[in-house]
Amino acid sequence: MPRYQAPLDDIRFVLEDLLDVGQEANMPGFEEMTPDIFFQVIDEGAKLCEQVLFPLNQSGDAEGCVFDQGEVRTPAGFKEAYRTFAEGGWTGLACDPAYGGQGLPELLNFVVEEMICSANLAFGMYPGLTRGVHNALDLHADEAIKRRYLPRLIDGSWSGTMCLTEPHSGSDLGLVRTRAEPAGDGSYRVTGTKIFISAGEHDLTANIVHLVLARLPGAPGGTRGISLFIVPKLLPTDDEGGLGARNEVTCGAIEHKMGIRASSTCVLNFDGATGWLVGEANKGMRAMFTMMNAARLAVGIQGLGLAEVAWQNARAYAGERLQGRALKGAKCPDQPADPLLVHPDVRRMLLTQKALIEGGRALAYWVGLAIDRAEHHPDPKVREADNEFVALMTPIVKALLTDIGFDVANLAVQVFGGAGYIRESGVEQYVRDARITQIYEGTNGIQALDLVGRKLPQNMGRLLRRFFHPVAEELAAVMAGADPVLIELATPLAKAFGRLQTATTTIAFKGLEDPDEAAAAASDYLRLFGLVALGAMWLRMAKVVQARPDHPLAASKLATARFFMAKLLPETSGRFAAIMAGAKTVMAGAAAAL
Ligand SMILES: Cc1cc2nc3c(=O)[nH]c(=O)nc-3n(C[C@H](O)[C@H](O)[C@H](O)COP(=O)(O)OP(=O)(O)OC[C@H]3O[C@@H](n4cnc5c(N)ncnc54)[C@H](O)[C@@H]3O)c2cc1C
Repeated sequence: MPRYQAPLDDIRFVLEDLLDVGQEANMPGFEEMTPDIFFQVIDEGAKLCEQVLFPLNQSGDAEGCVFDQGEVRTPAGFKEAYRTFAEGGWTGLACDPAYGGQGLPELLNFVVEEMICSANLAFGMYPGLTRGVHNALDLHADEAIKRRYLPRLIDGSWSGTMCLTEPHSGSDLGLVRTRAEPAGDGSYRVTGTKIFISAGEHDLTANIVHLVLARLPGAPGGTRGISLFIVPKLLPTDDEGGLGARNEVTCGAIEHKMGIRASSTCVLNFDGATGWLVGEANKGMRAMFTMMNAARLAVGIQGLGLAEVAWQNARAYAGERLQGRALKGAKCPDQPADPLLVHPDVRRMLLTQKALIEGGRALAYWVGLAIDRAEHHPDPKVREADNEFVALMTPIVKALLTDIGFDVANLAVQVFGGAGYIRESGVEQYVRDARITQIYEGTNGIQALDLVGRKLPQNMGRLLRRFFHPVAEELAAVMAGADPVLIELATPLAKAFGRLQTATTTIAFKGLEDPDEAAAAASDYLRLFGLVALGAMWLRMAKVVQARPDHPLAASKLATARFFMAKLLPETSGRFAAIMAGAKTVMAGAAAAL
């Protein structure tokens, strides 16, 4: 049976020692968010995840969702768990207090989301999407729509979906064909088919609120002609949650899929369904991007959560399973064999997992804190800088952490050996569940294009400085200092950082002449950037424990930092070489290969 225990020690280390979470309470609107409150909420969330959500993860996967004449049944126990979740206020954690949300910091929300995704990713999809709809409406809808929908989305009695994808329109949303015709009374009639819609139909909530991308009559082609509509499954009759007629939106089928089987993935047919415009006509992509940017970070957190639970199981198994002897003599001579943990190759796998997860957690939470600063810091210059930092790091967090989620889950299967391939172990589910995170919310290839095509050139490279400057300063300070341990760690990081800087200018210049050059380098560049970011996190963590050698995690952090710099950071050399090799072997020169 798989196990999960929220990694509270490491969470506390990142929040308290690395990020100084006490600064949250200095920001207007978060005065009550002292570290004590943070940890109270996290402790409660941990209990919920361990005791309510995690026990339903394997059974939910085995049972899956069931489609029955337009209705979808979630697996046994999901309804009760959802009720407990909503009644506990978890659906409204970081939501707008003006409509009943708790308005807690995004950083705190990141921590809770990580634990939810470790415990039961498929369950987490339902409230996760609702949160995205909340964000889009909160920023872009008019007051009447907000009053009618937000309180119900926040208290969890209604849920939300994002309806972008159509059979012929996935990464390229400019191809969306769904139409919206004005009905003459301020509403619209929405017609079209959306596919792969997560939480599109289910039995957890009284109503489902769809946010739909569609085209108005005469709208320009491509993404410039797309508008956003709110289309509820049941039409509200008032602002108090009253529900009337069934709208003309039906679930035609659910997908049978590789992972997250307890999350319904639906074909939705809109047949002249009643909807209302959200935001301005033809500006739907802007509004949807609000939702997608938050959702991209949330999907990165999904990768982190899955990696954590997979690693915990691999680590435990490696300590229990007895096979072979340590090469330099038996470690457990009274046993028939030593535990897997003694073998260098198993240690390599476990340390790889640990280094990626803890570095990834530090990076993700740093971005979470930056979101809070971007929204709440009293100094507008700080708000602007943090806003740019979040924009830069969003595709990196999404793609890097979901790749980590899949790779770490895959390594967990390897650590388990044959047992890992068997359902009962529970770890093969993590591989299957992790795979989709690399695809939805914009594939990781699309994230890489966003990084090189939009974020890199934006404001003449100003976004990049939000990461490059602090890292350059920290490296310079360590190298000028007298701590040989930190200098040992910073030396390879400084070289990798140099590669990242050279790769950045090379891509920027070559890309100006030939866009294929930038696009062909994009995925290697995102990985190079991500590894340098993880290295920067490990240097920071090492600095913390060098200053506090009595910290209970000091030895573990230092050992893992050394492992990361020596064994994982060298991947940057290979990525750098691939970037510098340019596009010719991919494009023109490779015409004969495909
Ligand atoms: C389980 C599940 C849940 C989902 N939930 C939702 C949901 O709730 N709402 C929703 O709207 N959608 C949802 N999706 C859809 C998902 O977001 C899309 O599948 C995803 O965006 C990719 O689109 P596509 O499948 O059409 O692939 P395609 O766009 O056809 O891409 C195929 C491949 O080509 C690459 N590619 C495409 N275009 C380019 C390009 N210009 N440059 C370089 N490479 C490119 C992609 O990276 C990918 O590797 C879900 C999908 C699944 C499977």
